[in-house]
Amino acid sequence: MKKILSLAGDGIGQEVVPVSLEVLKAVTQLAGRDVDIVYGLVGGDAIDQVGSPLPDETLSLARESDAILLGGVGGPKWDHLPTQERPERGLLGLRQSLGLYANLRPALVSPALVDSSSLKHEIVNNLDILIIRELTGGIYFGEPRGTDVRNNERVGFNTLIYSESEVERIARTAFQLAEKRNGKLCSVDKANVLEVSQLWREVVESLSSQYPTVELSHMYVDNAAMQLVRNPKQFDVVVTGNMFGDILSDVAAMLTGSLGMLPSASLAGSGVGLFEPVHGTAPDIAGKNLANPIATILSLAMMCKYSLDFPECADAIENAVNAVLDEGFRSADIANSVESKKETILGCVEMSEKIISVLAV
Ligand code: NAD
Repeated sequence: MKKILSLAGDGIGQEVVPVSLEVLKAVTQLAGRDVDIVYGLVGGDAIDQVGSPLPDETLSLARESDAILLGGVGGPKWDHLPTQERPERGLLGLRQSLGLYANLRPALVSPALVDSSSLKHEIVNNLDILIIRELTGGIYFGEPRGTDVRNNERVGFNTLIYSESEVERIARTAFQLAEKRNGKLCSVDKANVLEVSQLWREVVESLSSQYPTVELSHMYVDNAAMQLVRNPKQFDVVVTGNMFGDILSDVAAMLTGSLGMLPSASLAGSGVGLFEPVHGTAPDIAGKNLANPIATILSLAMMCKYSLDFPECADAIENAVNAVLDEGFRSADIANSVESKKETILGCVEMSEKIISVLAV
């Protein structure tokens, strides 16, 4: 029996998480797999109900779980709060407490949605790449950091630091995932300028012989940004540090052109994983049954693949999503304005019901 913690959070999180869990329940039932779903509070919802964005009870539930599904946190209601008390602290606290060091962001473009991308059809059609971002180290956490007054003017400073063990850990995750995909790994750095990147490159290179089926290459980050929009299909798996990954994963996400379709996973060495849509809480459409639940449903497919070891459930979810899109069903955010196309617009609840109706294991 696998234990899953559901944290709907705020805004459309309250809509996309419950309907996505229905998809998980349906697919695991079809596959004869057992899951136990428990529910917890996080973000603004937790602030309103118990006065903290990450209640102790949520953290203990998270530590006892095999995997966590999170909707999103934040919204205008809590924007006036000081930084340490805001809903976002709930998410950051969860990532830090669970040691979620590997952030996985696939960028997939199904033929049905190729028109949503701002890039040409032939550049993005059937795109399937995976960006792996180191999430708990690098410049966002390095010390010393701060502001100071030097030579009579204010200065700001941060430290970009990686230890060998931090690089080795994320590189091994990347090699292992590349082994399971198309066997190509591109490590992105700035080794022509930064010593920390030279160390990064040496450590990644030193592991390469242990993964003989993976073809390793290296690329400077500025070139990687260009190549991602010029010819993204040259990549299979990309691994990079925290700040470079922050930027490149957003570039890759936009190749697909649809925020409501993008899943993500953050993994810890222990195997526990946090799965969440890339989008936020969309306060502008919250409560209107307009949200696209597919990013959350695909996050559950990632959960089945990476944390629960239910690969047949992952495949079934992905196939069902593609089938529904191929049949022309769309949520409002991915509807195409080209009138010749036959499309049926569905709400959040109806989209998940349609996906459940075509599930086959
Ligand atoms: P957003 O992703 O919530 O919304 C951006 C735009 O995309 C909006 O127009 C929204 O309606 C649309 N959109 C997003 N997801 C959609 C979906 N599933 N279906 C249909 N349309 C969708 O980003 P934002 O507006 O910058 O942020 C809103 C709030 O979300 C803020 O409080 C922000 O802090 C929070 N946020 C949270 C997370 C997280 O919890 N991981 C991530 C990003 C933003």
